[in-house]
Amino acid sequence: MTLTEGIVIRAGNGMYTVQANGHLVHCRLRGNLKKHFEYSISLSNSRRVTRAKHPHVADAIAVGDNVRFAETQRGSGVIEEILPRRSRFARQGFRGREQTVVSNLDQLMIVFACAEPRLDPWKLDRFLVAAEAADIEPVIVLNKHDLIDVDDLNRLIEPISDLGYKIITTSARDEHGVDPLRDALKDKISAFVGPSGVGKSSLLNCVQPGLNLQTSDIGYVTFKGKHTTTSSQLIPLLFGGWVADTPGLRNLELLELGFDELVECFPELRAHVGNCKFDDCRHESEPGCAIKAAVDSGSVQRRRYESLLVLAGEAKAK
Ligand code: GDP
Ligand code: ZN
Repeated sequence: MTLTEGIVIRAGNGMYTVQANGHLVHCRLRGNLKKHFEYSISLSNSRRVTRAKHPHVADAIAVGDNVRFAETQRGSGVIEEILPRRSRFARQGFRGREQTVVSNLDQLMIVFACAEPRLDPWKLDRFLVAAEAADIEPVIVLNKHDLIDVDDLNRLIEPISDLGYKIITTSARDEHGVDPLRDALKDKISAFVGPSGVGKSSLLNCVQPGLNLQTSDIGYVTFKGKHTTTSSQLIPLLFGGWVADTPGLRNLELLELGFDELVECFPELRAHVGNCKFDDCRHESEPGCAIKAAVDSGSVQRRRYESLLVLAGEAKAK
């Protein structure tokens, strides 16, 4: 049996559209593949995906997965093998199980507006932590560049660039920064996230006219009464690369992270973690806390530290 390699570009209701050598094949999954798949995910070597607390990853294939399939007749086939994932972006699914929303995502384009709505750094931190937790590179896109003068822009950017993240400033209005944005997207699998009203749809339409039209959310309630999503898809970029359009990514939610994992999601804190006096330091009021010392000395932004405490408090409250 000859197997062909391809990428899953649409998934829903047990059917998968696989793109291979420029054509589309509608595939179903070989019956006993799901079992194997659970196993291979739990052995994933990603930084935080291997969380021991979540051993039961019972999801199937997601868009972005690279697969091998057998073509049974022209245009249809059976997926026989799933190739190892570089990353997986998951959400809390049915019965608290994690469900992969998109696989092999290279980057999360976190879009915020420079103004209207005003950038909320606490909200930005949540998106950054979500990207870090999934081991996916965050790229911060600051849109509506046309609404702000250069001094205000610099004031906005400074504390963010201080963290070492890549920032692209754009304007869907005058197309400032659209070329650098295209360069960043080229040949990668990306997803756009961010609060509503910041210009995600407008920006996608600048990147590639018509792109925003295809990104509408479709969700429905199945006969069992549980809310599911019909389909996720990867939308091809004409200049190379893909944009993931998956309902689950829209309402980004932070999966349960342990406290230590959460701290790891703040890159500027990583270097200090091992230096606290107590191994189980919660970085609150313990003596000899290296993180508090870094905050007090000004080398770590106090607001980011407070963001950590807020998120840790939420995790505890769950
Ligand atoms: P989304 O909810 O993130 O998809 O945001 P939309 O693309 O729907 O944009 C929200 C509003 O902001 C619309 O009225 C857009 O016309 C406007 N908008 C989007 N991008 C820009 C921009 O770069 N500059 C300005 N001034 N307005 C923008
Ligand atoms: Zn500490």
